[in-house]
Amino acid sequence: MRNQPALWPSPQWHLPKFQPDAPVLYFAPEVLQATARRFLQGFDGLVTYAVKANDHEAVLHNLVTAGVGAFDVASPLEMARVRRAKADAVLHYHNPVRSRSEIAEAVGHGIASWSVDCHGELAKLADVPRQDTEIAVRLRLPVAGAAYDFGEKFGADPEQAVTLLQAARDMGFATSITFHPGTQCADPEAWAVYVGVAADVTRQAGVVLKRLNVGGGFAAHRSGAAPDLEAIFSRISQEVRAVFGQDAPGLVCEPGRAMVAEAFTLALRVKAVRGESVFLNDGAYGSLTELRDIGLPDRVSVLRGGDRVSGKAVPRVVFGPTCDSLDRLPDLMPLPEDVAEEDYVLIRAMGAYSASISTGFNGYGRQEIVTVATL
Ligand SMILES: *Cc1c(COP(=O)(O)O)cnc(C)c1O
Repeated sequence: MRNQPALWPSPQWHLPKFQPDAPVLYFAPEVLQATARRFLQGFDGLVTYAVKANDHEAVLHNLVTAGVGAFDVASPLEMARVRRAKADAVLHYHNPVRSRSEIAEAVGHGIASWSVDCHGELAKLADVPRQDTEIAVRLRLPVAGAAYDFGEKFGADPEQAVTLLQAARDMGFATSITFHPGTQCADPEAWAVYVGVAADVTRQAGVVLKRLNVGGGFAAHRSGAAPDLEAIFSRISQEVRAVFGQDAPGLVCEPGRAMVAEAFTLALRVKAVRGESVFLNDGAYGSLTELRDIGLPDRVSVLRGGDRVSGKAVPRVVFGPTCDSLDRLPDLMPLPEDVAEEDYVLIRAMGAYSASISTGFNGYGRQEIVTVATL
């Protein structure tokens, strides 16, 4: 049996009682499992979880419990972590640049799918066992709609994708296409455009497309209204039927952010208020690293002794705890005018790219994970 962590009712209950001085990520397993079921029931294909968004053992364990059996991994360490959570998990190795020693380790982990975006990387896979092993050619298009564009780093243009599919087929692999529309993307048309081009590329290559992997990128609820995941799922299915017809491939998705974000609320303590500046116990080198790239969320509240601090919001300069002047949020954060030392700033939907990219710079940036029933 696995030791279960203490389960507290909520952050609002836990904070005044324990008054944690270090940053806390409150984790609600119920919320994570509900999100997983939403993907499993709503998406018309295989749901894989992109481990890099949050590789915490409890996250992997709860996803497995909810029925997720396949994972998008980018490194041998991620493979080992997933194997510990589920020995027979299906692993997709969708980091298209790999060293030969990483490839050898990955073969040992029994990878079911490898993504490639250039002939050099495909050639490195010559000795990979075939069986039903899939090569997923990573397609790149200039598509807008996301908070930032993953395509800047990886992907083959459509003409190159055609020759890669043909080469993978000639090497005896099953052929698939994969793409990623960019992270925090709420626009269903970004997926539709990719699906359309994937069909053209398949026809030009003259290959049988085993699967179409529509990536991650699904937006989390960071600001404004909650994104409509089901609208994206149904737009994807509709476009696949329209452009592939009878030859529709199986679908795969690989959400990271949208799977895990909502299951965590971050609680940071105010260390000091100096004029317009607020100093928090975590910042740009810790769980708030990503705000520089995707902007401030607006699901922020301030708590004092269990009650909400509700003064008029005024824009504040927010500093983190390290002694580096770059440890400052890029935008002014609206916080109540009466925010004070030892208050807690709660930020919802902070489960993705928070703990997983936190550094230990200056001895800060380690968040305690506290398990709660509700957030
Ligand atoms: C990071 C990544 C994902 C997850 O992206 P999200 O925007 O977090 O959903 C999925 N697939 C690949 C190949 C990735 O690199």
